[in-house]
Amino acid sequence: MKKIVLAFILILLSGFTACSPLPGKAGVSLFAMDTYMQLDIYGSQADSDAAEAELQRLDKLLSSTNPESDISRINQSGSAKVDADTYELLRRSVELCKITDGSLDITVYPIVKKWGFISREYSVPSQAELAALLKNVGYNQVKLKDGTVTVPKGFELDLGAVAKGYAADMLKKLLVEREVHSAVLNLGGTVLAHGEKPDGSKWKVGVTDPENTERYMGVLECRDTIVVTSGDYERFFIGDDGKTYCHIIDPKSGYPAANGIASVTVISPDGTQNDALTTALFVMGLDRAGEFIKSRGGFDCIILTKDKKAYITKGIEDSFIIKNEEYEKLIIDG
Ligand code: AMP
Ligand code: MG
Repeated sequence: MKKIVLAFILILLSGFTACSPLPGKAGVSLFAMDTYMQLDIYGSQADSDAAEAELQRLDKLLSSTNPESDISRINQSGSAKVDADTYELLRRSVELCKITDGSLDITVYPIVKKWGFISREYSVPSQAELAALLKNVGYNQVKLKDGTVTVPKGFELDLGAVAKGYAADMLKKLLVEREVHSAVLNLGGTVLAHGEKPDGSKWKVGVTDPENTERYMGVLECRDTIVVTSGDYERFFIGDDGKTYCHIIDPKSGYPAANGIASVTVISPDGTQNDALTTALFVMGLDRAGEFIKSRGGFDCIILTKDKKAYITKGIEDSFIIKNEEYEKLIIDG
């Protein structure tokens, strides 16, 4: 009899643990898309492995430096049939280039290379060199038809400004399909805050202090969204002229953006859009960025300037907590 009762209790207990377990945490650090990433998933090791594999798959398709990627095949021969994901991201990117009036331009690669941001052998090009290369820049020359992408001779594509945002969108889809309800994936400046913390509270996503990248300038409390930041501190060099040149290029002039903005963070559930806009708003500068934000809507935004102003949209006024009190908080009224 004792044995039967014990077996019954054990069945009850195992039934209990099978029905309402708190999800375990599976974490992985990896290097992909030219940056260190940290995935923390409240799910199984298989969920974490699947997320990592998806990131590596996208990196292989979208990298401009991997000679076998879809993007490199287009850059090498001017035309290539590409994977459905590459095609979809290119289609959306061209749309976002249009919306931002070319402040985002995925054909800026020849200029990015000239400044040395790919080889890391930095130098300031002459005006004449930039003018010659600008002839090979213009997103409206990218032709997409039936899965094939074609660019004119001399043109080269770079999805560095949008790939991590797209990856966040794809990972979100993967987590939903795998019924993972809680995860925070930091793809190096692009954070997918999926669902909420297992205890039901909001995620806290730090926004890097551009003046001291070891610190957070502020913390955003959020759930079920994607937070993307572009900062001039991510990659830059100091020229022989003593000036600092960052990796975000104004596609109209060929020069790195230098307009007083230090970082742009865009928040919405659309990672591809956010990533495109962080880069584009950075290029636009404060005035044009302000007009763009007010006229379009559909996302929240934090713009930090070099003179320590923090422009914040109304939607996150209460959920973005400034930690560095040197910043003056200003509201972008949409
Ligand atoms: P992000 O860090 O998202 O702002 O992307 C910056 C990266 O995108 C750079 O490292 C370049 O490879 C590329 N890039 C720089 N400027 C632009 C631009 N105006 N439009 C599109 N891509 C750009
Ligand atoms: Mg971007």
